[in-house]
Amino acid sequence: MLIYIHVPFCRQRCHYCAFQSQALGRDVEPVSSQAMRDYVDTLLMELALWGDRLGGRRVESVFFGGGTPSLLPPKIVGIILERLHKIFAIDDNAEISLEANPESFKGTLLPSQYLACGINRLSLGLQSLDPDMLRILGRVHKAQDSLNSLLAAREAGFVNIGVDLMWGLPGQSVRHWLQSLKDVVRLAPEHISAYGLTLEPGTVLERQCSEGLLQMPPERDLNIMFVEGAAYLEGQGYLQYEISNYSRMGYQCRHNLGYWQGVDYLGLGPSATSTINNKRWTNPAHQKAWAEKIAQGSVAGNEELLSPLIRVLEMIMLSLRTVRGLSLKRYKEMTGHDFLIDHKRMVQALHDNGLIRIRQGLLRLTPSGMVVSNAIISNLFAQTKKVLTEPLPTLESLQTVQLTEDDAPEVRSVVWPKA
Ligand code: SF4
Repeated sequence: MLIYIHVPFCRQRCHYCAFQSQALGRDVEPVSSQAMRDYVDTLLMELALWGDRLGGRRVESVFFGGGTPSLLPPKIVGIILERLHKIFAIDDNAEISLEANPESFKGTLLPSQYLACGINRLSLGLQSLDPDMLRILGRVHKAQDSLNSLLAAREAGFVNIGVDLMWGLPGQSVRHWLQSLKDVVRLAPEHISAYGLTLEPGTVLERQCSEGLLQMPPERDLNIMFVEGAAYLEGQGYLQYEISNYSRMGYQCRHNLGYWQGVDYLGLGPSATSTINNKRWTNPAHQKAWAEKIAQGSVAGNEELLSPLIRVLEMIMLSLRTVRGLSLKRYKEMTGHDFLIDHKRMVQALHDNGLIRIRQGLLRLTPSGMVVSNAIISNLFAQTKKVLTEPLPTLESLQTVQLTEDDAPEVRSVVWPKA
């Protein structure tokens, strides 16, 4: 099982952000915030409630995400981890990640304290090293803070550091994006996440773009940024293992891999989602509503039972986002159908256009296919729903099928159907 802990506090709201988080303000000491204290109390109560239900269950990864989890002092993170160790069977080599923002990851002492309390993977939200882009994004930190935080983490002894970057920003050119990647590669992080900017409704950035104050790069440039960025990173030894994620060999984020492989996850904190034993639920988004629910001794609730069809669609979507791709064998195990027959015409069209490749029983998107992954996946969804009308294997039998990395794919040659 994976555990995700949502920390819903930030210094200020970024201009592109639609996540659930509260702005504490630039100068407020996090520990002196009543909302933060209440949050920690409720989180520990929520943990205790889960201890009664899932205590003793094996945990392979813990991820503090947000928001800005590095606003939680190391002492508090240590207390939460201690409780987790008491309640669950956390693997000795579990990945324990903390998302950190450069403005709240300063000095040499703080990184050592996080390391000492059990954090072994850091994910730094740099987003950009360019002062103008940081201003457009409404980030509270400066480019120099990014460099300082990364150096401080290294000096403290972190050996697994990821950085988050954004591309496709208003006013950004292809050359500019590739230069940003070069600057970041010089810092030698183990992992790079590169997310294309999405304009979320209701955000400052969306309003500025719709009013014409800022302009998104043209579609053609966005495609080049993605494809050339991926090629550059691969050339520098960062292997792309998912549409937006690259890492040095052996430094893939195990937590995210778990999500993509369909491992159960428990989400704690406001707005956190959980999926356990084919049931999914989401905590109330607002801290007060979440706290009221926990105070009543209630967890989960409003669970959605994931039908076999939903599990199949999720498997298609999640696996096509990875570079490993969709296992045709896995599709057959889940549905009793042959994927290539079910999606004959589409597969041929995608293949003819160089958008997919099939090798060793795995169907994966090519770099050009990744650019239009949303369209491909939604078309595959429509066709899958159409063909999977008969009853699928039961939930119980699905649970026994586990996708593993060495899921010995059979070598098969594909006979492409005629149009
Ligand atoms: S730091 Fe992250 S969660 Fe917080 S406002 Fe910015 S983008 Fe949103």
